[in-house]
Amino acid sequence: MMYETIRAILLNTVLKLHQKDLIQLNSGNVSVRASEDHIAITPTGVPYDEMTAEDMVIIDLDGVVVDGRHKPSSETPMHTIIYKDMPAVKAIVHSHSPYALAFAAVGRNIPIICTEGLALRGPVPVAEYECPGTEAQGLAAIKAMKGPPSVIGTLLKNHGVLATGANLVQAYSAAYRIEMAAKIYLLALQIGNPDILTDEQIREIRSVYFSKKSPS
Ligand SMILES: [Zn+2]
Repeated sequence: MMYETIRAILLNTVLKLHQKDLIQLNSGNVSVRASEDHIAITPTGVPYDEMTAEDMVIIDLDGVVVDGRHKPSSETPMHTIIYKDMPAVKAIVHSHSPYALAFAAVGRNIPIICTEGLALRGPVPVAEYECPGTEAQGLAAIKAMKGPPSVIGTLLKNHGVLATGANLVQAYSAAYRIEMAAKIYLLALQIGNPDILTDEQIREIRSVYFSKKSPS
């Protein structure tokens, strides 16, 4: 069966996100490029704890179903516009994870105060408010991610997190790190005034970490 492998890989990421509580019930959605013109995306209305690889929907870049037994995520237009505009993006994770969403609701960026933020390439911005799941929201996310500085994920005002990657592992990791960065920043704000890492400190850390491997 065509797309079997990509569907299985997508399900694997969905299950990891669900396990980490980044997505619950059927909120949030995940997609990956299945080919140059096709995307595999999570279906609408199927709870994550019941989801199977066969439930994943294959669509074209206009959101038209190519293969699948369900309707694609209701937030599909947000995904497809990003794939159309950003060729380097191969996978997208969208979540409503609570710590990041709290900052998104307030409209406050998450600065780099520790190594969690480094892999995101810059402070996590907040995209301008647009109706959730629309193409307009995708365009707002693109604008926020293109910066400067250009980053691989953004908060969606009053909605959640949008994380991208060159593959699903990267997009998953970005979504996870945004939630962690939000949680750590919120905790630090309870204690006092967190010091934000300077550009020089960030350069120094990068030279130590990225000359070897990603921070862990
Ligand atoms: Zn959403």
